[in-house]
Amino acid sequence: MSEESQEPKPDRDPPLELFGYVPKSALVVVAHPDDADFLAASVLSAFVRRGCRAGICLVTDGDAGSDDPTIPRGELSRVRLAEQHRAAAHLGVQEVICLNHPDGTLQNTLEVRRDLVRVLRTFRPEMVITMDPTSRFFGRGYINHPDHRAAADACLDAVFPSARDARAFPELLAEEGLEPHKTRFVLVGSSREPDIAVPVLEEDLENQLAALGEHRSQFDAAPMRDWIFEEARRCGARAGVSMAESYRLFDLAPDPSQRGYEAPPEDAEGVPPRGRRSSNWG
Ligand SMILES: [Zn+2]
Repeated sequence: MSEESQEPKPDRDPPLELFGYVPKSALVVVAHPDDADFLAASVLSAFVRRGCRAGICLVTDGDAGSDDPTIPRGELSRVRLAEQHRAAAHLGVQEVICLNHPDGTLQNTLEVRRDLVRVLRTFRPEMVITMDPTSRFFGRGYINHPDHRAAADACLDAVFPSARDARAFPELLAEEGLEPHKTRFVLVGSSREPDIAVPVLEEDLENQLAALGEHRSQFDAAPMRDWIFEEARRCGARAGVSMAESYRLFDLAPDPSQRGYEAPPEDAEGVPPRGRRSSNWG
């Protein structure tokens, strides 16, 4: 046996950079009630716990999310929005916004983009979290929902360039007084190319499970406990912390020399301080 072959095999998943930064404000943009609680609930809990103002924007009202033909669509959307509000309360999320576009047939239209620009210019988040619109397939058993891709595409198009460009949808400025807004960071989840890990604690995962548990019209969250914790530990191991969630990071600072982030000083979570990066996040 060669010396080389006796060395431990590298993990299948490459290391991730630890992203200990806490944004002042974060907005999650997703297609359906319950999507945000899979995508970012533990991270929202961790951010809010450390002073972040957080919101969830649903592009549809989820009124197609049932196989039961006896439930009227309006009733289903009321139930699902109530579930989302209760879920958000577990995370300390202050605001849930629903744009009421059609569930199941969502398209990345200019109307959807304009609605999202309005939300971005009103909420004015430092960070936006959404899905990866290029993720089409996951393994052998799941084709990504087209609404997920459409909502994420519209969100990213709204973040850049429309929300920051005064000439995009000029009526928003002229008639509603909504000044352009530059979102600094975008975290893209459900990505096949994650590059950062956001540290979370056990209490954040418990909050996520409590939030998921509110979506009773959709699923039973109890069996998800082991999976949620295993995924967080697996991700944490890639970044040198006990638990974390992975995303692909975009830093949209206009001047490349200004790109980077600084984590708060070391705190009880054991997250090490990180100096300002001088990287070329492209
Ligand atoms: Zn969904």
